[in-house]
Amino acid sequence: MGFPRVAISTQGSQATVRWGKDATGSAIIRDVPRILRVLAPNPGPFTLQGTNTWIVGARPSLVIDPGPDDPEHVREVHRESEPVGAILLTHHHPDHAPGAALLADRSGAPVLAYRPVENERKLAGGAIVPGGDAILRAVHTPGHTPDHLVFFERESGALFTGDAVLGQGTSMIDPPEGEMAAYMRSLSIMLSLAPRVIFPGHGPAVWSAVEKLREYVDHRKDREKQVLAELEEGPRTAEELVPGIYSDYPQELYPAAARSVLAHLLKLAREGRVTRIGRPVEERFALASGASCERCGRPVVPGSRLCDRCGVAALQEAPPATGRTREAGGDAHIRPSSETTDGRDST
Ligand SMILES: [Zn+2]
Ligand SMILES: [Zn+2]
Repeated sequence: MGFPRVAISTQGSQATVRWGKDATGSAIIRDVPRILRVLAPNPGPFTLQGTNTWIVGARPSLVIDPGPDDPEHVREVHRESEPVGAILLTHHHPDHAPGAALLADRSGAPVLAYRPVENERKLAGGAIVPGGDAILRAVHTPGHTPDHLVFFERESGALFTGDAVLGQGTSMIDPPEGEMAAYMRSLSIMLSLAPRVIFPGHGPAVWSAVEKLREYVDHRKDREKQVLAELEEGPRTAEELVPGIYSDYPQELYPAAARSVLAHLLKLAREGRVTRIGRPVEERFALASGASCERCGRPVVPGSRLCDRCGVAALQEAPPATGRTREAGGDAHIRPSSETTDGRDST
């Protein structure tokens, strides 16, 4: 079956988490005092075995991500965490946050989040949250979502990563909520903490934390290289790039892969390394030519003087009777006349 539910032994107030078996079936037992996982019963392609709710310390404890709106799960979390000092949210996705209101009702503890919604309180990046025998620091790590936080316990080196780093596979970066450039910066920030162990929002704990973070950085850099290599063949949509890059993966994953490729393309576009062509729905991306738009300075496709957006704007502006020529190849190649006097340079 799936990942074993974590066995819990309690000696006084010292809760111990025991991890079950590794992929080869041999037993791995790791005892981490004070840190307890309760696995939510919401397994799925993006949640792996389910959401990990983490309970850190005791009297009072700090609870990270009470999980989905599941009273049974929250009841179990409450039983293991009482009394609760604070409920911390890594982000507001439905597999992490809705249980917080239920746990707050039961425990009376405040819910802290980077972007608080109803009845929650603001938790800024850098803020310190003290519990009974644990102190967590909130670290703003946008990328998976703009409001994403991870929580770091300096003393033990434990890093609670939510969906920023998973125990297996990669984190989903789905634009526009997900942003690859921010995510890459967040990976560097997490690396700079030099964590000893990662307790992720999904999947097993990662005991080689720094290696895992390096692996994540390398993975994204490799993907970016692949995207650029595929664009050598000419302009493509994100969907068209997927089969070449994900040839080893089953086709069911292609729609999700296209979102990830799009995240890379948007990062590269912002950096001026690729150019966006066409309307958003059928938007294609091309390698930047090194030349820039005469109006706005954005990169243009080879042979063009205006970027796509300025080309469209030029079309929509009241045209003079003469003085425009349309080059072959469509909107991206509109060449504005030097005689135009409609004030477009002021925009
Ligand atoms: Zn998420
Ligand atoms: Zn999640």
